[in-house]
Amino acid sequence: SLACSVGVALYPDHGDRHQLVMHADAAMYTAKRAGGNTYALFESRMNEGLQDQLSLQQDLRHALERGELQLHYQPKIDARLGRLQGVEALLRWQPEGKPMVMPDQFIPALEETGLIVPAGAWVLREACNQVMTWRARGLPPVSVAVNVSARQLQQRGFVDTVASILKETGLEARYLELELTETIFVDNAGDNVRMLRRLADMGVSLAIDDFGTGHSSLSYLSNFSPRTQKIDRSFLSEAGDGSDNIAIARAIIALGHGMGMYVVAEGVETEAQVDFLRGYGCDQMQGSLLSKPLPADQLEQWLRARIQSQLSLNAARRAALV
Ligand code: C2E
Ligand code: MG
Ligand code: MG
Repeated sequence: SLACSVGVALYPDHGDRHQLVMHADAAMYTAKRAGGNTYALFESRMNEGLQDQLSLQQDLRHALERGELQLHYQPKIDARLGRLQGVEALLRWQPEGKPMVMPDQFIPALEETGLIVPAGAWVLREACNQVMTWRARGLPPVSVAVNVSARQLQQRGFVDTVASILKETGLEARYLELELTETIFVDNAGDNVRMLRRLADMGVSLAIDDFGTGHSSLSYLSNFSPRTQKIDRSFLSEAGDGSDNIAIARAIIALGHGMGMYVVAEGVETEAQVDFLRGYGCDQMQGSLLSKPLPADQLEQWLRARIQSQLSLNAARRAALV
């Protein structure tokens, strides 16, 4: 399906010939924010929103040039054994002298301006470099998951960019996972599936993020089968108290397993959720109960502390045997 957002500005009521297109733009942004697939007529108060939008876009251009983007990393563990399975890289923006900005607040603007392409390439390179750095510092190899938006995937040359970043950083393809949302199956689905097949052929792992929240048609799963499926945290929100969400989460796990996929639960916050997810055979877990996303150096400390405690646990077990 195609969505279309229209902004309307009328001459001469809504400005002279210099302002008219800008004001139509402001109305279009309002229509988009209202959920899209609709139109809006310009009103003078929309000017403020437009100014905000333009200065955000300007600031983001500088953010890239000044190196204000950062990655945080959140661990994913094996649901049964508790072993570390990998980390997810999550983008942060730290403007100088200002509070840190979360991705939901600026990724839409990166996409609207096309800045998501250089920003996305930066994220990929940085994430691959980081796992190689951890390896060089003596940690066991971990895989890294990187979020990729539909806009990035549709960029010509995306597959080549991934290939060259892997080559440049020396990371083996199987240690890279790309997390995609179901929106990639809405527009240009055929092209996207071809692209995903090329990535899979290279050995890169693919995951469907926020499963069950985007696009209700499941038919895409039959012509393209990702390796991993991530249950959206909204389905865990009431896990443990017998609500419908549990039935949905349980069905998603069964569907994923039925199609030969790994199932990951994200946003795991409570022991009750862990019990429930283990009970239904969920494969991996990620969430604040384990660790929130951390800067690279802090995640390294977390990893070392975990390895240390596992070593002493093993030593204690051995000691108990003799
Ligand atoms: P996502 O890929 O589904 O990432 C999971 C989000 O859940 C992250 O939010 C993470 O911080 C949050 N989270 C993890 N554990 C918990 C928990 O226990 N409780 C709660 N309430 N939340 C938890 P974050 O970092 O704000 O990222 C939001 C979204 O922004 C991501 O959702 C992803 O779609 C997008 N994003 C992040 N980094 C990138 C990137 O580099 N590129 C692209 N294209 N999108 C990105
Ligand atoms: Mg993700
Ligand atoms: Mg998600």
